[in-house]
Amino acid sequence: MGYKIQTICVQGENARKEVDNTGSISFPIYQTAAYAHPAVGQSTGYDYSRLQNPTREEVERIVADLEKGIDALAFTSGMAAIAALMELFRPGDHIVATDDLYGGTIRVFDNISHKNGLHFTYVDSSNEELVEQAINSNTKAIYIETPTNPNMKVTDITKIVEIAKKHACIVIVDNTFLSPYFQNPLVLGADIVIHSGTKYLGGHNDTLAGFLVTNRYGISEQLRYIIKSTGAGLSPFDSWLILRGIKTLALRMEMHQKNALTVAKWLSKESKVVEVFYIGLPTHPSFETTLKQSKGYGGMISFRVDSEVTAIRILEKVKLIRFAESLGGVESLITYPMYQTHADLPIETRKAQGIDETLLRMSVGIEDIDDLISDLNQAIN
Ligand SMILES: *Cc1c(COP(=O)(O)O)cnc(C)c1O
Repeated sequence: MGYKIQTICVQGENARKEVDNTGSISFPIYQTAAYAHPAVGQSTGYDYSRLQNPTREEVERIVADLEKGIDALAFTSGMAAIAALMELFRPGDHIVATDDLYGGTIRVFDNISHKNGLHFTYVDSSNEELVEQAINSNTKAIYIETPTNPNMKVTDITKIVEIAKKHACIVIVDNTFLSPYFQNPLVLGADIVIHSGTKYLGGHNDTLAGFLVTNRYGISEQLRYIIKSTGAGLSPFDSWLILRGIKTLALRMEMHQKNALTVAKWLSKESKVVEVFYIGLPTHPSFETTLKQSKGYGGMISFRVDSEVTAIRILEKVKLIRFAESLGGVESLITYPMYQTHADLPIETRKAQGIDETLLRMSVGIEDIDDLISDLNQAIN
């Protein structure tokens, strides 16, 4: 262990496993389903790509190194990773989760995992007392997302880890929003980290991917069994795209953050903007926690405007910034959580979380900041 994060993004922490002898600098795409055996009873170590694929193993190695885990598993999407993760649990098991989770995660928990016998209690995990109160004798895990989407609430990971230890449950952190460049939950004591690799890891809005990273041998073994059995391993080509994306993760994250901070400050001064949610603003209620547990603030901003009319005008008038879901890519995107990312939530839940017709979310890209501000300015005013 010793390389700095910029180096790990490009090469990883340990020497790469050479699977051929050409010296190829770019990792080859092993676009194969099966591998020939040298003789009866022998294997090259590769039998079938659902089980092993060198390109997938390479991206898994880099992501494990970035998150300081012992193992990372690459899935076809973030949701495939989360669905596979749920296979660690049994009917009757209970999970305490952040109430302001990614919409797709809530959909899996409530409509699929629940049918399979799992129980969930959603609490505001930025309040540790509520988390501890929700734990019962069947609780097996605390599942958090920090910062949350779209409300940008921050949970103190170390405090959640302390509670989990007391009650013998594991801590799972969806670290998509800050990426391993700005936050490493395993180092803070979490057991499993999730990424939608579709977002900052891939970084170019061009492919889906998901990761589970752990530093527990037992969990790694179970997850390996689940991925090979249920088969949602990332394809060789998509593995390569994510590998290529990660090489510039450090550069991109710095730029996303620099632009986001400027946009957040600019928005805060606009008369039609009522409230700005960005964890990098000293006025954010959890700014101290962020300084303690993260190395940065990332590129995600939510903001509330004065009316539905203003919100719709912004969405329809932006030119450079595209009106689209998703986040974490080089292109700036703006979305309407109420009708897009969180459309499946029951209306009362949405309202309770402030996800209404005046709330917008922006994934700040790496375009020139003056161009971004003038696009926002012409859309808002
Ligand atoms: C996008 C996202 C997911 C789901 O990932 P997909 O790659 O879209 O399946 C999960 N968690 C968070 C925080 C996300 O932003």
